[in-house]
Amino acid sequence: MAKRRKTQIVVVGGGAAGLGLVRKLGARYSRDTHDIILIEKNRTHVWKPLLHEVAAGALDANADEVGYGGHAARWNYRFFNGSLERIDRERQMVVTSPLIDEDGEVVVDRHEIRYDWLVLALGGVSNDFGIEGVREHAMFLESRRQADRFRRRLLNACLRLNETRQHDDSTATLPICIVGGGATGVELSAELVSSAKALRSYGLEVFDDSAVKVTLLEAGPRLVPALPEDVSEKVEDQLRALGVEVRTDTMVTKVTPGRVEMQDGRAIEAKLLLWATGVRGDHALSEMSDLELSDQGRIVVEPTLRTPADPRIFAIGDCCHCVLEDGEPPVPPRAQSAQQMGDHMVAQLHRAQRGEPLTPFVYRDRGALVSLSRFTAMGSLMGNLVGGRMAIEGRVARFAYMSLYRLHIISVHGWRRGLVHIFSHEVNKVTRPALKLH
Ligand SMILES: Cc1cc2nc3c(=O)[nH]c(=O)nc-3n(C[C@H](O)[C@H](O)[C@H](O)COP(=O)(O)OP(=O)(O)OC[C@H]3O[C@@H](n4cnc5c(N)ncnc54)[C@H](O)[C@@H]3O)c2cc1C
Repeated sequence: MAKRRKTQIVVVGGGAAGLGLVRKLGARYSRDTHDIILIEKNRTHVWKPLLHEVAAGALDANADEVGYGGHAARWNYRFFNGSLERIDRERQMVVTSPLIDEDGEVVVDRHEIRYDWLVLALGGVSNDFGIEGVREHAMFLESRRQADRFRRRLLNACLRLNETRQHDDSTATLPICIVGGGATGVELSAELVSSAKALRSYGLEVFDDSAVKVTLLEAGPRLVPALPEDVSEKVEDQLRALGVEVRTDTMVTKVTPGRVEMQDGRAIEAKLLLWATGVRGDHALSEMSDLELSDQGRIVVEPTLRTPADPRIFAIGDCCHCVLEDGEPPVPPRAQSAQQMGDHMVAQLHRAQRGEPLTPFVYRDRGALVSLSRFTAMGSLMGNLVGGRMAIEGRVARFAYMSLYRLHIISVHGWRRGLVHIFSHEVNKVTRPALKLH
């Protein structure tokens, strides 16, 4: 008797949406009937909302990363280390580009992987709005590699400044500019102030927190528009109190090495420039397939998360453009929506395989929170438990902020192992140094 072919479910991208999904699919299906494959270009996963802490040296990512290989072995799926290059919809194949090492040698050749069901969870990239010089001269915070690069450049710049202050000019400063007053820009600004305060005890004798001048530029009228107006105001006040120069209604028009030009004709110096202005789809998406893309280059999906063009392809998380009700804005690109979409896909794929009607995704907005480093956290919670929207700050907000990370850990490792990971993360916080700047 001919052996029955296994159902092959391919998930591309092991971030907030994809990693929890493959774990749950691996736990649900037997290897005899299903082949669950995760294609991911990196070998380890670091939860994206922690990247500003990695960039400022407040978090040692090595201690918090998840190795895909080990995770796959534990959770009954296959990990393929590669980057999606193209989707061949006719043949139901994904093509991955060759994996090249630092010496330019091919490690893994171009591959074709068959799928019965394909879930794209590729995340997004920062939107540079085509502004001149941004791609060439700004840094971004989209991956662990970029966060590490920012931290190395920050440390080198601080060491140089320390030398200058010691020998030439005791009042010299390091101007850092962050463009984008959303959660990433706000959180990184506060984290940089915190790191600067700590540097003096790390061998930079003439360094103090006045040495680092952080400027945060936002094109809109207020910071973190996802938060209620009064909370946004408090965030701005708090940042100013920390010494961050906040400029709202400020549009950047051009970036050159070390300089940021603004629409009003003024310009500021920036030894380090970080660009964090919202999320768009990866620029390469239009070459990967003929799937419909939104204005922001994200993959258009129906409320069921399925692509209109292909019933076998779904997209979740930051890479998808999902409007649940006509006239409503799309589901926001956030960790909580990515995680919820990943959870929804587990049952959705089961329904799709059985030919049952698909159910629409329901987004539960739990609120928005920003962490201002060790100083405080602020935001608002949503839900029946708090009777609508409730503003919170301080320890309660910090706890709620960390809960999102803890939920991610549980989604990735399951309850039992997840709780052990959370415990060891807390223990690590006590034993590891406050700053990791190497
Ligand atoms: C600094 C920072 C702070 C943030 N803070 C918050 C916060 O406080 N709250 C909140 O809700 N959200 C926050 N976000 C947003 C949140 O991190 C994202 O919304 C969330 O990670 C999206 O999940 P995702 O799975 O769609 O994408 P990601 O988590 O980005 O995962 C995408 C994965 O796809 C992989 N990939 C990409 N292209 C390819 C390819 N071609 N082939 C193979 N693999 C590929 C990537 O390597 C990555 O692992 C923050 C983001 C940043 C950068």
